Amino acid sequence: MVKPKFAAMFLRTDSEVDLSRQISPCPVCTAHEARLVSATDRHGKPLTTMMCDACGHVFNDPVPSAEELAAFYARDYRVSYKGAARPRGRQVARNFGRVEQFWADWGHVLRGRRRILDIGAGSGEFLFFAQALGHETDGVEPNEGYAAWCRDDLRLPVRTATIEDLEKSETTYDFIRLNHVLEHLRDPVEALERAARRLAPDGVLYVEVPNVEVYARVKTRGNMFHYGHISNFSPWTLRAAAGRAGLAELADTAGAMQDRTAGFFQRASSWSVESARKPENAQRVRAALEAHAAAGPSLLSQAAKLARKMQGNIELTWIAARMGSPRMIGGYYVERLAAGGWQPASRHEPGLTPSRT
Ligand SMILES: [Zn+2]
Repeated sequence: MVKPKFAAMFLRTDSEVDLSRQISPCPVCTAHEARLVSATDRHGKPLTTMMCDACGHVFNDPVPSAEELAAFYARDYRVSYKGAARPRGRQVARNFGRVEQFWADWGHVLRGRRRILDIGAGSGEFLFFAQALGHETDGVEPNEGYAAWCRDDLRLPVRTATIEDLEKSETTYDFIRLNHVLEHLRDPVEALERAARRLAPDGVLYVEVPNVEVYARVKTRGNMFHYGHISNFSPWTLRAAAGRAGLAELADTAGAMQDRTAGFFQRASSWSVESARKPENAQRVRAALEAHAAAGPSLLSQAAKLARKMQGNIELTWIAARMGSPRMIGGYYVERLAAGGWQPASRHEPGLTPSRT
């Protein structure tokens, strides 16, 4: 059942959207009850986005075909999404800074996990850190430009390949990272299953995606949805998708991660479709989207955000100019992490067991 009223708060009128066709089942919980939440993308172009009433998952409908997606990524993605054909020094520095923060916060989870795979390695900063800290690294990246950047500029073993290509190999890994990848894929549960099959028996999968509730709070009004982001997760729907794929969150990190669309997972028994459904979550996500549609963030908070960004850009530009090559920039951030007292450890930390929630 489609309820068009909600979408009227966004920028396009309902009459322009064809609601007569059958909507797609929810990619997380398979329910067919969904409501229209937006009829345009962040640039005002037509894009139909639905929210599942059963679990609160927000997804583009129809899901583009594999051929449409391949054409989009081959042709448009790198320039239209990142605004440049190659990462700029400032962008490289910003990415390294974010990865440094990840290792400072969560490096203990990776201790003793020798073989690391990054699925959707992007511009390679995570694998650069992993290699510098003594791990064996492997990466796949579907975008030829990014994959070549990883190989040529960072000297990392990154193949131009997709998550589907991993099925051709029997290799398993002690740690796999799926960072800002899942939201781009046609079937998030299937993608998580594919990643889980490449985990060693005690292996850990890290998944992180954008949070639709945070977007609703911080994005300017109507500037939320994107053709390339097929799924828009909330903390619950990420865990539900992982549960359906036979993954359970590590008990040691679950508390710290509970409000985030990120988590560390290990293989466990799969959730039923019913377990993935949670109408309270749908109500919560709906409230966040309605608040966004009604107001969006204040001008003052947007101005403060812009000022912080400009200040950050000055620092990043300075670091990039001083260091020169991408590897030198990466080395600066690895050294900064070590100088902060962070030590790579070869010993496996005991006690990292899946939670039963
Ligand atoms: Zn659902």
